[in-house]
Formats: sequence, C-alpha cells, structure tokens
Amino acid sequence: MSYECKYCNKKLSTQSSLTLHQQTTIACLSIQESMNIITVNTRVTCDYCKQSFTKNNLSKHMKVCKFRPNNDLTHKDNEISRLKDELIKKDNEISRLKDEFTHQLQLETSILKVKLEIYKEMAENNRDTLDKLSARAMHTVEEIAKLPIEVNNNTIDWDISENSNYEEDEEYTCCD
Ligand SMILES: [Zn+2]
Ligand SMILES: [Zn+2]
Repeated sequence: MSYECKYCNKKLSTQSSLTLHQQTTIACLSIQESMNIITVNTRVTCDYCKQSFTKNNLSKHMKVCKFRPNNDLTHKDNEISRLKDELIKKDNEISRLKDEFTHQLQLETSILKVKLEIYKEMAENNRDTLDKLSARAMHTVEEIAKLPIEVNNNTIDWDISENSNYEEDEEYTCCD
C-alpha cells in the first residue's frame, strides 16, 4: 500500500512519511506555496530570532524580524524618521509658543505705551493746571497786597469815628 502526495504526486509508503514529506520537502512545499495552501503543521524556524512559523508566515515575518540585520537598520531608520517627525512637531510647538509669547509681549508693551502716554498727558495737564493755579494765586496775592492798606485805613478811620461818636453818645446818655 502506498500514499500519494496530492501536491507533487510522490508516492510514500506510510501516512507518517507522507506527512513528513509534505511538511519538509522543499520541492513539495514550493508547490504547496504556489497553490496558496497553508500547511499549518509545516513549521520553519527564523534564523535570526529562532521563532518558528509556517512557511508562509516566515516570509512575512522576515520582513519585520527585528533581529535580522537589515530589518534592524530599517527599524532604526523608521525610529529615526519617527523621532525626526516628533522633533519637527516640537519645533513647531516651540515656534508657536514663541509667537504667542511675542504677541502677548507686544500687546503688553503697547498697553504700557498707551498708559505712559496717558500719564504723560495727565502730568502735562497737571502742570498746566498748576501753572494756571499759581498764576491765579500770584494774581490774587497781588490783588490782596494792594487791598489791605486801603481797607485797613478805612476800617480804622471808620471805627475810630464810630467808636468816638458812640462813646460820646453813651457818655451823654449815661450822664443825663
Ligand atoms: Zn509532495
Ligand atoms: Zn525572526
């Protein structure tokens, strides 16, 4: 009794040798591969990481195995370009913050400038007011300086005459 391989038609004497043939014979495996048959039990080992895979999965794994030198480089390249991207993002964030800070600073500076202008104007107005007030004060002082002598003389004259009249009248009334 013989067992015929359904992929490559090779005849084998036992079921177990047929299974082994289908799992290990490269020519037969190639045929299985070309037929897109996944032979779950056919396991091959990755030379770099020593993990075992089905033949189909190994070829996929080979592209990403990080222990494979070229893949390692590719992996590092990817990592570098990822970090570059991150750096660019951070640079953008920094320049955005710089812009925001500069804008804020410009805003505060212009507010301070406006305040300074207002204070200057207030000081100017105060000086004007002070000048006007002191001019008026000087004028008033001058006016007052002219007045008291006449006023005093009049008052004194008037007081004396009034008092003397009054005293005379009183004296008169008193003694009558
Ligand atoms: Zn075969
Ligand atoms: Zn591997």
